[in-house]
Amino acid sequence: MTSDADRILEKLGEMELRLQRLESISPNDEIITEERTEVAGEGELESEQVSRVNDSVVTTKRITMCDYCFGKIDQMSLCKKCGKKLCENCSIDFRNETICLQDLREVHPISRQVFKVILMIGNGITGEHDMNKVSGIPQDEMKGIVDFLRDSGYVTTSFLGGKRLTDLGTEAFYAHSQVLGGKDDMKDLDGRIEEYVSKS
Ligand SMILES: [Zn+2]
Ligand SMILES: [Zn+2]
Repeated sequence: MTSDADRILEKLGEMELRLQRLESISPNDEIITEERTEVAGEGELESEQVSRVNDSVVTTKRITMCDYCFGKIDQMSLCKKCGKKLCENCSIDFRNETICLQDLREVHPISRQVFKVILMIGNGITGEHDMNKVSGIPQDEMKGIVDFLRDSGYVTTSFLGGKRLTDLGTEAFYAHSQVLGGKDDMKDLDGRIEEYVSKS
């Protein structure tokens, strides 16, 4: 007949064995692994994180997408001003730094419509009527844009009405064309400018 003390010792021995068995199970034997893919947040770089959620080992891969256009990044650069990750199409070389369009607009507040007018003036189409014909921008809007460009120092007007880009205007043109130049409506306009210039 076993005493109470013996029975307790026996139970303790069983528990210890069970504990040892539990501890000896390697993670790969019974743990479910799961892989998740997330898009890294703004300014965040690619990363891989392993964490345990209940019985699962979760590997979370954060992949990088362009913080500006949300497209895939082949060659990444970071905006010097705001830290956004930028793809090739969204990064702008400006005064020896790489920046995004949003930060370029802090320096040169140029909208797409305004850029179109700069593009035409840069190509020697300077009459408001001609610019309207080539771009389709209504004449009263065109007049407002031209006034803005002159008042902001992007364009000078001679007393004969001829317009040309100032150094500031040329800088704004080259900087903005890095991003806007590839857009369909700009390529379109480029084609019409070429056609117009070759006719005149
Ligand atoms: Zn992009
Ligand atoms: Zn930026």
